[in-house]
Amino acid sequence: MPKTSLNGTVVAQRPINRYSSLDNAPVRVGLLTSASERDLIVLAGIPKEAASRLVALRRKGPLRSTYDLLGEGGISQTDLERIRRSVLFFEDPRLVITDVVPSAGRIMSERSFAIRVQFAAVASPPIFVRVEVEWAGEPFLVEKKVSARDRRGGFVSIPFGKRQTLPAGPAVFRVALTNGTGAQAKFRITCVVLPSNPFSLGLAPKSDFVTGTFSARGVRDGNAYNTSISVTLSNGDSRAVSVRQQFTWKFWDGGVGGSLVEQGTGGFPDPIAVPAFGTWGGWIAFHSPQGSGVFNKYDGKEDMTIEIIMTRTDGTQVSGTITCRTMFRFGVNVTQVAFEDFFGQEGADLDAAAEVTRTIYERRDITFDTDDRGINRARAGPFENITSESEARDLWEQWSGPNSNNNIDAFVVDSLAIPISGGGTADGLDGDIPGPTSHAGRNSGTVQNKSGFVDSSGAPRLHVEYLGMLMGHELGHYLGLSHTSDAGNLMLPSSGTTDTNLTYEQYRKMIRHGWVSID
Ligand SMILES: [Zn+2]
Repeated sequence: MPKTSLNGTVVAQRPINRYSSLDNAPVRVGLLTSASERDLIVLAGIPKEAASRLVALRRKGPLRSTYDLLGEGGISQTDLERIRRSVLFFEDPRLVITDVVPSAGRIMSERSFAIRVQFAAVASPPIFVRVEVEWAGEPFLVEKKVSARDRRGGFVSIPFGKRQTLPAGPAVFRVALTNGTGAQAKFRITCVVLPSNPFSLGLAPKSDFVTGTFSARGVRDGNAYNTSISVTLSNGDSRAVSVRQQFTWKFWDGGVGGSLVEQGTGGFPDPIAVPAFGTWGGWIAFHSPQGSGVFNKYDGKEDMTIEIIMTRTDGTQVSGTITCRTMFRFGVNVTQVAFEDFFGQEGADLDAAAEVTRTIYERRDITFDTDDRGINRARAGPFENITSESEARDLWEQWSGPNSNNNIDAFVVDSLAIPISGGGTADGLDGDIPGPTSHAGRNSGTVQNKSGFVDSSGAPRLHVEYLGMLMGHELGHYLGLSHTSDAGNLMLPSSGTTDTNLTYEQYRKMIRHGWVSID
């Protein structure tokens, strides 16, 4: 009888307090009024001549912005830009979060902790801080006033008390500081909450540790189903822990302790040492051929539970479980309109945004494949910058497709400014609710603004999380969802980065769209 086989590999780990590739990196900002020439060279990355010119000009009178330097000469345009990004001027109104870290260096499960927010400001210091926490359960919010003492110190500590402790696993902290003018500075970090007990094994459907409740999925591959899971060992102890390479795996019908579908042993290629206060990651890819127990359960659309049991070299066992099931699936043509506009990192940012969208949908057991497409600027013509709904409909009429695939067309344009009733403009638009199961006509697609900005190193980038949410929102319309007023829902009329929930009712509606099929 055919049996499930597997392959185990090792996955490189990111730092425990910067666990996601979407996290912000610390930034260094200086105060022009007090920075030395040496500070300016290091902070702004400018040549010595430019730094000494800046110090000389500072002596003549207060410098309020780079505009005060424009007519002075001796500093190149590029260096002016570097100075603008890394230095706060006299009476500068800007507020910058320079770093966010757990105050004790780490967060332990089921224990109180604090998050330290470091900032730089001159004329408009922060008066209020809020932290949104995403973890396996319901997201929650902690808010606090920033005291005069905090402002003098350049940082504020936000305590999480006994009723705000977290279980072991990943947690995302989104920090916003607000100043007296209402302006905000934002920063995001993902921390691995380490087990206090002090060792745990977590299973997830992706190598990038994700928050929320996810299932692993069985993906049909010819006459087989493939199931991949990531294994994360977390160590909350001050000593490294050695774990045996060999592990036991079990597929249970329903939950653990029901009837066993298949089981066996496998191994990781290298000896396992989980560092003190750190993590180790592995990846297991199961292959279940036709006729195997796991294949038959997937084919019968039944849920199973995967259990992984590992053994420390001292003989104690550690285990974790995850539900697995087949998913519903659709396809998306992600088309860069005027692809010459997607500079450098922006192409990779668009891929990362599609991954954010996929994560939003997979949390509801729907996944999608993307076909990355592009239209060059010469052929895109007016569609590079869309200013009206009829222009968007012209784009769908002329460019959706090809007819050889049944994918939803998601066009990403350099700018989108379609006026909406009540003022302002929309960042995204969908042809119809639901969209057609054909590429013909003037309703067959979605379009979204690429949401670009320039990062602190001067590189053009995309707002990955916002764009991922935006694409997800427009795809939701195409799959039949109307707007809702549920807080945190993806389909809020003006949904923001953290509005990513989909309800069970919305899931039931989307899987009835003719372009959604069982995986
Ligand atoms: Zn909408």
